[in-house]
Amino acid sequence: MHIEIIGSGIVGLSCAAAFAERCCDVTVISESNGPDESCCSWWAGGMLSPWCEMESAEPLIGELGVESMAFWSRFTSTYRQKGTLIVASPRDVPDLKRFGRRTQNWEQVKEEQIKILEPDLAGRFTTGLYYPQEAHFDPREVLPELVAYLQEKGVTFQFNKKQSDDFLKIPTTADYRIDCRGLSAKDTLKDLRGVKGEMVLIQSSEISLSRPVRLLHPRIPLYIVPRNNGVFMVGATMIENEERTRASVRSILELLSAAYALHPAFGEAEILEIGVDARPAFPDNLPRIVQMGKTIYLNGMYRHGYLAAPAMAKKVVELALSGNGNTPPSSSYTGNS
Ligand SMILES: Cc1cc2nc3c(=O)[nH]c(=O)nc-3n(C[C@H](O)[C@H](O)[C@H](O)COP(=O)(O)OP(=O)(O)OC[C@H]3O[C@@H](n4cnc5c(N)ncnc54)[C@H](O)[C@@H]3O)c2cc1C
Repeated sequence: MHIEIIGSGIVGLSCAAAFAERCCDVTVISESNGPDESCCSWWAGGMLSPWCEMESAEPLIGELGVESMAFWSRFTSTYRQKGTLIVASPRDVPDLKRFGRRTQNWEQVKEEQIKILEPDLAGRFTTGLYYPQEAHFDPREVLPELVAYLQEKGVTFQFNKKQSDDFLKIPTTADYRIDCRGLSAKDTLKDLRGVKGEMVLIQSSEISLSRPVRLLHPRIPLYIVPRNNGVFMVGATMIENEERTRASVRSILELLSAAYALHPAFGEAEILEIGVDARPAFPDNLPRIVQMGKTIYLNGMYRHGYLAAPAMAKKVVELALSGNGNTPPSSSYTGNS
Protein backbone atom coordinates (compact mmCIF):
# COMPACT_ATOMS: atom_id res chain seq x y z
CA MET A 1 0.00 0.00 0.00
CA HIS A 2 1.36 3.44 -0.91
CA ILE A 3 0.86 6.16 1.69
CA GLU A 4 1.53 9.87 1.11
CA ILE A 5 1.98 11.89 4.29
CA ILE A 6 1.83 15.69 4.23
CA GLY A 7 3.77 17.27 7.10
CA SER A 8 6.89 16.34 9.03
CA GLY A 9 6.01 17.48 12.54
CA ILE A 10 5.56 14.90 15.27
CA VAL A 11 2.20 13.83 13.83
CA GLY A 12 3.50 13.26 10.28
CA LEU A 13 6.58 11.39 11.52
CA SER A 14 4.55 9.26 13.94
CA CYS A 15 2.19 8.30 11.12
CA ALA A 16 5.15 7.53 8.84
CA ALA A 17 6.62 5.24 11.51
CA ALA A 18 3.32 3.46 12.12
CA PHE A 19 2.74 2.82 8.38
CA ALA A 20 6.37 1.86 7.70
CA GLU A 21 6.19 -0.67 10.55
CA ARG A 22 3.23 -2.26 8.73
CA CYS A 23 5.40 -2.57 5.57
CA CYS A 24 3.66 0.22 3.63
CA ASP A 25 5.47 2.26 1.00
CA VAL A 26 5.60 5.72 2.62
CA THR A 27 6.43 9.16 1.17
CA VAL A 28 6.56 12.21 3.46
CA ILE A 29 6.11 15.59 1.76
CA SER A 30 6.70 18.70 3.83
CA GLU A 31 6.88 22.44 3.45
CA SER A 32 9.52 22.57 6.18
CA ASN A 33 13.14 21.58 5.79
CA GLY A 34 12.51 18.49 7.92
CA PRO A 35 11.18 18.91 11.43
CA ASP A 36 12.60 22.38 12.01
CA GLU A 37 11.74 25.61 13.83
CA SER A 38 8.84 26.31 11.44
CA CYS A 39 6.97 23.35 13.01
CA CYS A 40 5.08 23.57 16.29
CA SER A 41 6.79 20.30 17.25
CA TRP A 42 10.16 22.09 17.50
CA TRP A 43 9.08 24.21 20.45
CA ALA A 44 7.64 21.52 22.69
CA GLY A 45 8.91 20.81 26.17
CA GLY A 46 9.06 17.07 25.59
CA MET A 47 7.14 16.20 28.74
CA LEU A 48 5.41 12.83 28.70
CA SER A 49 3.07 13.43 31.62
CA PRO A 50 -0.18 11.49 31.18
CA TRP A 51 -1.02 11.62 34.89
CA CYS A 52 -0.27 15.30 35.50
CA GLU A 53 -2.20 16.22 32.36
CA MET A 54 -5.31 14.61 33.86
CA GLU A 55 -5.61 17.73 35.99
CA SER A 56 -7.27 19.42 33.02
CA ALA A 57 -7.50 16.84 30.21
CA GLU A 58 -9.99 14.08 29.37
CA PRO A 59 -9.15 10.47 30.40
CA LEU A 60 -8.56 9.66 26.70
CA ILE A 61 -5.33 11.70 26.83
CA GLY A 62 -4.10 9.58 29.73
CA GLU A 63 -4.82 6.36 27.82
CA LEU A 64 -3.14 7.62 24.63
CA GLY A 65 -0.25 8.88 26.71
CA VAL A 66 0.45 5.56 28.41
CA GLU A 67 0.34 3.78 25.03
CA SER A 68 2.62 6.36 23.40
CA MET A 69 5.12 6.20 26.27
CA ALA A 70 5.53 2.48 25.62
CA PHE A 71 6.48 3.39 22.03
CA TRP A 72 8.90 6.15 23.07
CA SER A 73 10.62 4.04 25.73
CA ARG A 74 11.40 1.41 23.10
CA PHE A 75 12.25 3.90 20.37
CA THR A 76 14.64 6.46 21.81
CA SER A 77 17.64 6.19 24.10
CA THR A 78 17.02 9.83 25.09
CA TYR A 79 13.84 8.76 26.95
CA ARG A 80 14.28 9.61 30.64
CA GLN A 81 11.83 8.08 33.07
CA LYS A 82 12.63 10.23 36.08
CA GLY A 83 9.09 11.25 36.94
CA THR A 84 7.68 14.73 37.44
CA LEU A 85 7.88 16.81 40.60
CA ILE A 86 5.21 19.38 41.42
CA VAL A 87 5.86 21.98 44.08
CA ALA A 88 4.02 25.00 45.42
CA SER A 89 4.84 27.77 47.85
CA PRO A 90 3.09 27.47 51.27
CA ARG A 91 0.49 30.02 50.11
CA ASP A 92 -0.48 27.80 47.14
CA VAL A 93 -0.69 24.46 49.00
CA PRO A 94 -4.52 24.38 48.51
CA ASP A 95 -3.82 24.35 44.74
CA LEU A 96 -1.46 21.43 45.22
CA LYS A 97 -4.16 19.51 47.09
CA ARG A 98 -6.66 20.26 44.33
CA PHE A 99 -4.11 19.09 41.73
CA GLY A 100 -3.67 15.85 43.66
CA ARG A 101 -7.42 15.25 43.89
CA ARG A 102 -7.75 15.52 40.11
CA THR A 103 -4.84 13.23 39.25
CA GLN A 104 -3.52 9.77 40.06
CA ASN A 105 -0.28 7.82 40.39
CA TRP A 106 1.47 10.32 42.64
CA GLU A 107 3.25 10.18 45.94
CA GLN A 108 3.16 13.02 48.41
CA VAL A 109 6.68 14.26 49.14
CA LYS A 110 7.92 16.37 52.02
CA GLU A 111 11.02 18.50 52.36
CA GLU A 112 13.33 15.51 52.96
CA GLN A 113 12.17 13.62 49.85
CA ILE A 114 12.27 16.76 47.69
CA LYS A 115 15.89 17.14 48.81
CA ILE A 116 16.65 13.56 47.69
CA LEU A 117 14.88 13.97 44.33
CA GLU A 118 16.19 17.44 43.52
CA PRO A 119 19.02 18.42 45.88
CA ASP A 120 19.19 21.94 44.46
CA LEU A 121 15.61 22.60 45.59
CA ALA A 122 16.47 21.62 49.20
CA GLY A 123 14.92 23.92 51.76
CA ARG A 124 12.85 25.81 49.19
CA PHE A 125 9.61 23.78 49.31
CA THR A 126 8.07 21.84 52.16
CA THR A 127 5.59 19.75 50.21
CA GLY A 128 5.01 18.46 46.71
CA LEU A 129 3.63 15.68 44.52
CA TYR A 130 5.85 13.20 42.73
CA TYR A 131 4.65 11.26 39.64
CA PRO A 132 7.32 8.53 39.40
CA GLN A 133 6.15 6.96 36.13
CA GLU A 134 6.28 10.09 33.99
CA ALA A 135 9.08 10.75 31.52
CA HIS A 136 10.66 13.40 29.32
CA PHE A 137 13.05 13.86 26.40
CA ASP A 138 14.36 16.61 24.18
CA PRO A 139 12.17 16.91 21.04
CA ARG A 140 15.10 18.37 19.12
CA GLU A 141 16.97 15.10 19.64
CA VAL A 142 13.98 12.86 19.01
CA LEU A 143 12.75 14.46 15.75
CA PRO A 144 15.99 13.88 13.76
CA GLU A 145 16.25 10.44 15.33
CA LEU A 146 12.79 9.65 13.93
CA VAL A 147 13.76 10.92 10.47
CA ALA A 148 16.92 8.76 10.47
CA TYR A 149 14.93 5.71 11.61
CA LEU A 150 12.36 6.27 8.87
CA GLN A 151 15.05 6.68 6.20
CA GLU A 152 16.50 3.35 7.31
CA LYS A 153 13.04 1.84 6.93
CA GLY A 154 12.92 3.05 3.31
CA VAL A 155 10.59 6.04 3.81
CA THR A 156 11.11 8.73 1.14
CA PHE A 157 11.23 12.39 2.20
CA GLN A 158 10.49 15.43 0.05
CA PHE A 159 11.34 18.46 2.18
CA ASN A 160 10.91 22.15 1.30
CA LYS A 161 7.89 21.21 -0.79
CA LYS A 162 4.76 23.15 0.09
CA GLN A 163 1.57 21.57 -1.20
CA SER A 164 -0.84 24.19 -2.52
CA ASP A 165 -4.53 24.16 -1.58
CA ASP A 166 -5.28 23.20 -5.20
CA PHE A 167 -2.90 20.26 -5.06
CA LEU A 168 -4.47 19.01 -1.87
CA LYS A 169 -7.91 19.07 -3.54
CA ILE A 170 -6.69 16.77 -6.35
CA PRO A 171 -7.28 13.09 -5.50
CA THR A 172 -4.01 11.42 -4.66
CA THR A 173 -2.52 8.58 -6.69
CA ALA A 174 -1.44 6.98 -3.39
CA ASP A 175 -3.80 4.57 -1.65
CA TYR A 176 -4.17 7.13 1.11
CA ARG A 177 -3.03 10.67 1.76
CA ILE A 178 -2.52 11.38 5.46
CA ASP A 179 -2.83 15.11 6.12
CA CYS A 180 -0.64 16.09 9.09
CA ARG A 181 -0.28 19.80 8.35
CA GLY A 182 -0.97 20.89 11.93
CA LEU A 183 -2.55 24.33 12.14
CA SER A 184 -2.28 24.81 8.33
CA ALA A 185 -5.08 22.26 7.88
CA LYS A 186 -7.47 24.92 9.19
CA ASP A 187 -8.37 25.55 5.54
CA THR A 188 -10.32 22.26 5.60
CA LEU A 189 -10.82 21.47 9.30
CA LYS A 190 -12.82 24.58 10.03
CA ASP A 191 -13.04 24.24 13.82
CA LEU A 192 -9.29 23.85 14.25
CA ARG A 193 -7.80 26.75 16.23
CA GLY A 194 -4.39 27.80 17.52
CA VAL A 195 -3.43 28.05 21.19
CA LYS A 196 -0.34 30.17 21.46
CA GLY A 197 2.56 28.87 23.51
CA GLU A 198 5.66 30.86 24.40
CA MET A 199 8.78 29.32 25.91
CA VAL A 200 12.32 30.29 26.85
CA LEU A 201 15.52 28.25 26.71
CA ILE A 202 18.01 29.20 29.39
CA GLN A 203 21.37 27.83 30.45
CA SER A 204 22.86 27.74 33.92
CA SER A 205 25.74 25.91 35.54
CA GLU A 206 24.54 27.04 39.00
CA ILE A 207 21.64 24.63 39.26
CA SER A 208 20.80 21.18 38.06
CA LEU A 209 17.49 19.32 37.87
CA SER A 210 16.95 15.67 36.96
CA ARG A 211 13.32 15.81 35.91
CA PRO A 212 10.58 18.23 34.84
CA VAL A 213 9.53 20.39 37.76
CA ARG A 214 6.19 22.19 37.77
CA LEU A 215 5.57 25.15 40.04
CA LEU A 216 1.91 25.64 40.86
CA HIS A 217 0.93 29.26 40.89
CA PRO A 218 -2.56 30.74 40.44
CA ARG A 219 -1.44 33.17 37.73
CA ILE A 220 1.70 31.67 36.17
CA PRO A 221 1.76 27.85 36.20
CA LEU A 222 5.29 27.01 35.13
CA TYR A 223 7.25 23.97 34.13
CA ILE A 224 10.98 23.58 33.68
CA VAL A 225 12.34 20.67 31.68
CA PRO A 226 16.06 19.92 32.02
CA ARG A 227 18.05 19.25 28.85
CA ASN A 228 21.72 18.46 28.28
CA ASN A 229 24.59 20.83 29.16
CA GLY A 230 22.76 22.87 31.79
CA VAL A 231 20.01 23.92 29.37
CA PHE A 232 16.43 24.26 30.65
CA MET A 233 13.20 24.69 28.73
CA VAL A 234 10.94 27.07 30.62
CA GLY A 235 7.34 26.91 29.49
CA ALA A 236 4.80 27.57 28.51
CA THR A 237 2.03 30.10 28.06
CA MET A 238 -1.45 29.03 26.91
CA ILE A 239 -3.15 31.87 25.10
CA GLU A 240 -6.22 31.70 22.84
CA ASN A 241 -4.45 33.28 19.91
CA GLU A 242 -3.01 31.93 16.65
CA GLU A 243 0.11 34.05 16.54
CA ARG A 244 3.08 31.85 15.73
CA THR A 245 5.93 34.33 15.88
CA ARG A 246 5.55 37.14 18.42
CA ALA A 247 6.46 36.60 22.07
CA SER A 248 5.18 39.32 24.39
CA VAL A 249 7.27 41.00 27.08
CA ARG A 250 4.59 40.17 29.63
CA SER A 251 4.68 36.44 28.86
CA ILE A 252 8.44 36.20 28.99
CA LEU A 253 8.59 38.28 32.18
CA GLU A 254 6.05 35.96 33.80
CA LEU A 255 7.83 32.77 32.71
CA LEU A 256 11.20 34.01 33.90
CA SER A 257 9.76 35.38 37.17
CA ALA A 258 8.27 31.97 37.87
CA ALA A 259 11.63 30.30 37.13
CA TYR A 260 13.27 32.76 39.53
CA ALA A 261 10.62 31.92 42.14
CA LEU A 262 11.47 28.22 41.73
CA HIS A 263 15.15 28.99 42.36
CA PRO A 264 17.00 32.35 42.41
CA ALA A 265 19.93 30.72 40.56
CA PHE A 266 17.79 30.98 37.43
CA GLY A 267 18.19 34.76 37.77
CA GLU A 268 21.81 34.37 36.66
CA ALA A 269 21.04 32.02 33.77
CA GLU A 270 21.78 32.98 30.19
CA ILE A 271 18.81 33.37 27.83
CA LEU A 272 19.54 31.23 24.78
CA GLU A 273 16.28 31.43 22.90
CA ILE A 274 12.72 32.68 23.05
CA GLY A 275 10.26 30.55 21.10
CA VAL A 276 6.63 30.81 20.06
CA ASP A 277 4.14 28.70 18.17
CA ALA A 278 0.44 27.89 18.20
CA ARG A 279 -0.76 24.44 19.17
CA PRO A 280 -3.36 23.03 16.77
CA ALA A 281 -6.52 22.29 18.78
CA PHE A 282 -10.19 21.44 18.29
CA PRO A 283 -12.83 22.97 20.60
CA ASP A 284 -12.72 19.96 22.97
CA ASN A 285 -8.87 19.95 22.97
CA LEU A 286 -8.87 16.29 21.91
CA PRO A 287 -7.06 14.87 18.87
CA ARG A 288 -9.26 13.87 15.97
CA ILE A 289 -9.07 11.63 12.94
CA VAL A 290 -11.17 12.83 10.03
CA GLN A 291 -11.57 10.85 6.83
CA MET A 292 -12.65 12.47 3.58
CA GLY A 293 -12.46 9.86 0.85
CA LYS A 294 -8.84 8.82 0.42
CA THR A 295 -7.56 11.61 2.64
CA ILE A 296 -7.26 11.00 6.37
CA TYR A 297 -6.54 13.95 8.66
CA LEU A 298 -4.86 13.53 12.03
CA ASN A 299 -4.86 16.78 13.91
CA GLY A 300 -5.75 18.74 17.05
CA MET A 301 -2.93 17.43 19.21
CA TYR A 302 -3.14 20.60 21.35
CA ARG A 303 -0.52 20.32 24.16
CA HIS A 304 -0.22 16.56 23.70
CA GLY A 305 1.62 16.07 20.40
CA TYR A 306 4.40 13.87 21.80
CA LEU A 307 2.16 12.38 24.44
CA ALA A 308 -0.51 11.19 22.04
CA ALA A 309 0.78 11.08 18.42
CA PRO A 310 2.25 7.53 18.37
CA ALA A 311 -0.99 6.05 19.76
CA MET A 312 -3.21 8.10 17.43
CA ALA A 313 -1.01 7.19 14.44
CA LYS A 314 -1.72 3.52 15.12
CA LYS A 315 -5.45 4.25 14.91
CA VAL A 316 -4.92 5.97 11.56
CA VAL A 317 -3.10 2.89 10.27
CA GLU A 318 -5.91 0.60 11.48
CA LEU A 319 -8.44 2.81 9.71
CA ALA A 320 -6.49 2.81 6.44
CA LEU A 321 -5.63 -0.88 6.47
CA SER A 322 -9.21 -1.88 7.27
CA GLY A 323 -10.53 0.39 4.52
CA ASN A 324 -10.14 -2.02 1.59
CA GLY A 325 -10.83 0.92 -0.70
CA ASN A 326 -14.38 1.30 0.64
CA THR A 327 -13.78 4.67 2.20
CA PRO A 328 -16.75 6.69 3.39
CA PRO A 329 -17.00 10.19 1.84
CA SER A 330 -16.55 11.83 5.23
CA SER A 331 -16.30 10.59 8.79
CA SER A 332 -14.53 11.54 11.97
CA TYR A 333 -13.71 10.20 15.40
CA THR A 334 -11.59 11.15 18.34
CA GLY A 335 -9.79 7.91 18.80
CA ASN A 336 -11.85 6.55 21.71
CA SER A 337 -14.78 5.49 19.59
C1 LIG B 1 5.60 25.89 23.82
C2 LIG B 1 5.00 24.53 23.55
C3 LIG B 1 5.28 23.47 24.42
C4 LIG B 1 4.75 22.19 24.17
N1 LIG B 1 5.10 21.16 25.01
C5 LIG B 1 4.63 19.90 24.76
C6 LIG B 1 5.04 18.82 25.60
O1 LIG B 1 5.81 18.99 26.54
N2 LIG B 1 4.54 17.57 25.32
C7 LIG B 1 3.70 17.34 24.27
O2 LIG B 1 3.28 16.19 24.06
N3 LIG B 1 3.32 18.37 23.44
C8 LIG B 1 3.76 19.63 23.67
N4 LIG B 1 3.38 20.68 22.86
C9 LIG B 1 2.40 20.43 21.80
C10 LIG B 1 3.04 19.88 20.53
O3 LIG B 1 4.18 20.63 20.22
C11 LIG B 1 2.01 19.92 19.38
O4 LIG B 1 0.86 19.20 19.77
C12 LIG B 1 2.59 19.28 18.12
O5 LIG B 1 3.80 19.89 17.79
C13 LIG B 1 1.66 19.37 16.91
O6 LIG B 1 2.32 18.66 15.89
P1 LIG B 1 1.87 18.63 14.38
O7 LIG B 1 2.73 17.62 13.71
O8 LIG B 1 0.38 18.49 14.30
O9 LIG B 1 2.19 20.10 13.81
P2 LIG B 1 3.57 20.73 13.32
O10 LIG B 1 4.69 20.34 14.19
O11 LIG B 1 3.33 22.20 13.16
O12 LIG B 1 3.84 20.08 11.88
C14 LIG B 1 3.10 20.45 10.73
C15 LIG B 1 3.89 20.03 9.50
O13 LIG B 1 3.10 20.27 8.32
C16 LIG B 1 3.90 20.92 7.33
N5 LIG B 1 2.99 21.66 6.43
C17 LIG B 1 2.07 22.60 6.77
N6 LIG B 1 1.43 23.02 5.64
C18 LIG B 1 1.95 22.33 4.59
C19 LIG B 1 1.70 22.31 3.18
N7 LIG B 1 0.78 23.09 2.61
N8 LIG B 1 2.45 21.47 2.39
C20 LIG B 1 3.40 20.66 2.96
N9 LIG B 1 3.66 20.64 4.30
C21 LIG B 1 2.95 21.46 5.09
C22 LIG B 1 4.81 21.82 8.17
O14 LIG B 1 5.92 22.22 7.39
C23 LIG B 1 5.18 20.85 9.30
O15 LIG B 1 6.21 19.98 8.86
C24 LIG B 1 3.89 21.97 23.06
C25 LIG B 1 3.63 23.03 22.19
C26 LIG B 1 4.17 24.30 22.42
C27 LIG B 1 3.89 25.42 21.45
